[in-house]
Amino acid sequence: MTGEFSILHRDGKARLGRLHLRSGAVTTPLFMPVATRATVRLVPAWSVADLGFEVLLSNTYHLLLRPGPERVAKQGGLARFHGFPKGTLTDSGGFQVMSLGARFNESGARFRNVYDGSWVDLTPEGAVEAQRLIGADVAMVLDVCTQLPAPQPVVAANTALSVRWAERAKRAKEPDGQLQFGIVQGGVDLALRRSSALEIAEIGFDGYAIGGLAVGETPVATLEAVGAACAILPSDRPRYLMGVGDPYLLSHAIGLGVDMFDCVSPTRIGRHGVALTASGKMKIKAPRFAADGRPLDESCGCPVCQRVSRDFLNHLAHADPVSLGFYLGMHNLAFQMGLIRQARAAIESKTMGIFLRRIEEVWSPEAKGSGD
Ligand SMILES: [Zn+2]
Repeated sequence: MTGEFSILHRDGKARLGRLHLRSGAVTTPLFMPVATRATVRLVPAWSVADLGFEVLLSNTYHLLLRPGPERVAKQGGLARFHGFPKGTLTDSGGFQVMSLGARFNESGARFRNVYDGSWVDLTPEGAVEAQRLIGADVAMVLDVCTQLPAPQPVVAANTALSVRWAERAKRAKEPDGQLQFGIVQGGVDLALRRSSALEIAEIGFDGYAIGGLAVGETPVATLEAVGAACAILPSDRPRYLMGVGDPYLLSHAIGLGVDMFDCVSPTRIGRHGVALTASGKMKIKAPRFAADGRPLDESCGCPVCQRVSRDFLNHLAHADPVSLGFYLGMHNLAFQMGLIRQARAAIESKTMGIFLRRIEEVWSPEAKGSGD
């Protein structure tokens, strides 16, 4: 049944589950690659699915401006529009309220249209309607994300406004099989995180996101805030940590009971010539990779590592950097999927402790990636 979330295995607070979307069931923990404008830049949606990803994230704010929700609806919804054969989720635009410096008041947010400079109004109800038309399996409520560090009264006011907007979004939502997730805010103030989690949970959503983190605070503060929210949120619903893809944070958040993640980083750093490998980050343009006949990552089974060498990719860095972005994007997504698979296996075999120690060795903020 759509919306059903069954937990199949646990190791400590970590869980392995199945979430039933209207397009089909997906396994958690899961990572969502980001197709901001309905495209994962340089990588076709079906290739993303071939790597094993089951949910693709797109952004309501961007789709609202271009191509517009009606145009997506006319093509049968987001999944048909961009050709991703599995689950879809749309973020609401709360992150853009912050990152694009939008103005907001009680009624909603006002953005500058990045394409023509005109003003665009987005209300909690408008975000629900836009996401209904776009037609993803999961819709997020509109919230106010706060850039950190920020004064406590500002974080508190934005967190309280996010709760009032969540109530309005819940009232505006039609029961059409599309799941609706609420978003916990509160910055790194643990008391605020807890009260926000309580109030959002009280409204009652199909799932709960933890938003407004990894926006300038330390990794320790991020994980403390995640732990505080997870301790309050209902344990029988999926939990989604927004905007986090870093192997260290992601793995530890799984250990704290988070089920879903998204981040642009695997493809973005790929476009900047950086590969994620079992021994850390690797800048492929470095002269020492010329004439290196090994694959990017010897433990990776992705199409790139199966076919071409570091030498070839180093050559691309000079000869065709755009194509290099495609190759590294594919590999980095495969790496991220591999990380998720390792976490799932660790939960199933109750070896999360060993898995987290291995992650610490390479990815803790103090560890140095050998490839740099
Ligand atoms: Zn690879």
